[in-house]
This record gives sequence, structure tokens and C-alpha cells, in this order.
Amino acid sequence: MADCVFCKIVKKELPSEVVYEDERILAFRDVNPVAPLHLLIIPKKHIASVNHLAEEDKELIGEMFFLAQKIAREQGIAESGYRLAFNVGRNAGQTIDHLHLHLIGGKQLPWP
Ligand code: AMP
Ligand code: ZN
Repeated sequence: MADCVFCKIVKKELPSEVVYEDERILAFRDVNPVAPLHLLIIPKKHIASVNHLAEEDKELIGEMFFLAQKIAREQGIAESGYRLAFNVGRNAGQTIDHLHLHLIGGKQLPWP
């Protein structure tokens, strides 16, 4: 997707603070963090939202969650706790139409 901000981050056409990268997934720091640790875990391929997941993406989603667990451990917040969130669509406040899993932690988080 030529005009997608996160596709541009994947292609390194826009800067980001990458914390993990492999062939299928990228994790980088949210530019506007809401907590001491706020990362975005994204698939490298463009998927607009959870609404656009296909059968073939099931393994990819599993990898994203497994990576979240690994990063949380590495960053020392696995025990204190963290939040994983996909915002889907307008009512949830999704602003970037490229699937992203928020990994947020490092402080007591308000809910909702
Ligand atoms: P959402 O509201 O779920 O769509 O979240 C989009 C997130 O992307 C927000 O938390 C933004 O702060 C973050 N964001 C937007 N542009 C960038 C960027 N260029 N680099 C890193 N994070 C970004
Ligand atoms: Zn994209």
C-alpha cells in the first residue's frame, strides 16, 4: 500500500525505533507513547485491520502474540503486567489502517 504509514516504516521509507524484526513481523516504539513501554507489533504485509484477517493469517497472528510475550519478558514487564490491544475501526479509535498490536506497560494502566 503506497500511502500506508506502517508499510513505509516496513520499507524504511519512514524512520522508526525498531526493537524486533524478522521476515514477517516488525516491532517498533510508538511515536506517542501512553506508558513507559509502548510498542507496536505489525505484520510486514499490509492487512488493514482485524476485520481483514484471512484464514491464512492465523499463524501470523499467533507469532505476533508470541513475540509480545517474549518482548514483555525481555523488557522486564511480564510479571508487573501489560496490555495487548488491537483497535478495530472508528469506534475503537483505529487511526492507522495497517494491523498493529499495541504492547503497553511499565505503569498501572487505566481501564477502559
Ligand atoms: P491506533 O489508534 O490503534 O490506530 O494506533 C496507532 C498508533 O500509531 C498510535 O498510538 C500512534 O501514536 C502511532 N503512530 C502513528 N504514526 C506513527 C509513526 N510514524 N511511528 C510510530 N508510531 C506511530
Ligand atoms: Zn500498510
